[in-house]
Amino acid sequence: CGIVGYVGHRPALEVVLGGLRRLEYRGYDSAGVAVLAGQGLAVERKAGRLTNLEARLDEVGRDGFAGTAGMGHTRWATHGPPVDRNSHPHRDVTNRVAVVHNGIIENFAALRAELEAGGVEFTSDTDTETAAHLVAHAYDAGDTAGDLPASVRAVCRRLDGAFTLVVTHVDQPDLIVAARRSSPLVVGLGEGETFVASDVAAFIEHTRDAVELGQDQVVTITRDGYRVTDFAGEDVDTRPFRVDWDL
Ligand code: GLU
Repeated sequence: CGIVGYVGHRPALEVVLGGLRRLEYRGYDSAGVAVLAGQGLAVERKAGRLTNLEARLDEVGRDGFAGTAGMGHTRWATHGPPVDRNSHPHRDVTNRVAVVHNGIIENFAALRAELEAGGVEFTSDTDTETAAHLVAHAYDAGDTAGDLPASVRAVCRRLDGAFTLVVTHVDQPDLIVAARRSSPLVVGLGEGETFVASDVAAFIEHTRDAVELGQDQVVTITRDGYRVTDFAGEDVDTRPFRVDWDL
């Protein structure tokens, strides 16, 4: 339902939670965050209000979430009930890839069957989890090995439906990749920090310079900027705009 991703110089956890708070008006049934912390991926997710997630973070302690790249999600369940294990982010079996997703992956049942036949054990009922395993596989082998944007593009070409995806990989701690088809995605351009979100509201307190992604496009964000391509990997021209309205 709501998505925010961040790469910058500030603690990602606080930026991401602040963004999720600004997206609360959209309605949701669960929330979660992932931060690329020194030792790997730190993830917490909780059914219910954002305050449940924050209480959980207070319980486990926020020390493990020190890192300046991360993502967050508020879920409106379509595949699987609103319980902790179906909350986003979802991860691959090796815990290196984290994915948050808005929308529906229509062909998830066929993709899940294919992954399960290959020995992947699923930990949720969601359509989203297929994307996490597929990205991990694409990153490990073949033409896309070691290239996260190329891996995400290859996976997007296999997905039917409407989706916004935000993806991280522990081997690529300085970037976040996001993709969209028939579901909104905006990039926020700050000084030494870059955002992606389903709505400018998520980052407007940090920057008003933004770029809207077009249909079937993928963006890679780093601290210093962004690059947009289509699903085939061709560069796309973008036109940054300034958000001059108040929210
Ligand atoms: N289809 C996904 C799920 O049920 C994402 C739903 C959403 O857009 O929040 O988990």
